[in-house]
Amino acid sequence: MSAAIQNCLNCGNRFFPARLFCPDCGQENFSTVLVEHADVAETTRLADGTLLATLKIPGGPSVVGRVTGGQASYGDRLPLANNLDTNDGVYAYVPLRSTVNEEQQ
Ligand SMILES: [Zn+2]
Repeated sequence: MSAAIQNCLNCGNRFFPARLFCPDCGQENFSTVLVEHADVAETTRLADGTLLATLKIPGGPSVVGRVTGGQASYGDRLPLANNLDTNDGVYAYVPLRSTVNEEQQ
């Protein structure tokens, strides 16, 4: 289980969601790296019971994900996934948009 994030090939900074160019160095060459885990920095429970978490990716950006399969709290390290097709316990679902500025249909 992992989530795909964008890695700048020039300066090595990582981004999610994907950028058209690197805001740090201005280059536009990226690779995709798979991140296995992130640390819960904060949680929010919505009125419908959905648990959202702000997650700090070690060496990378913070992302917001939906906690699925159980509970999580500050300091927990959760597996990340870009899909909801798994039943492997507690993990954070981080929706992936494969392209930036994609056509709306
Ligand atoms: Zn860069």
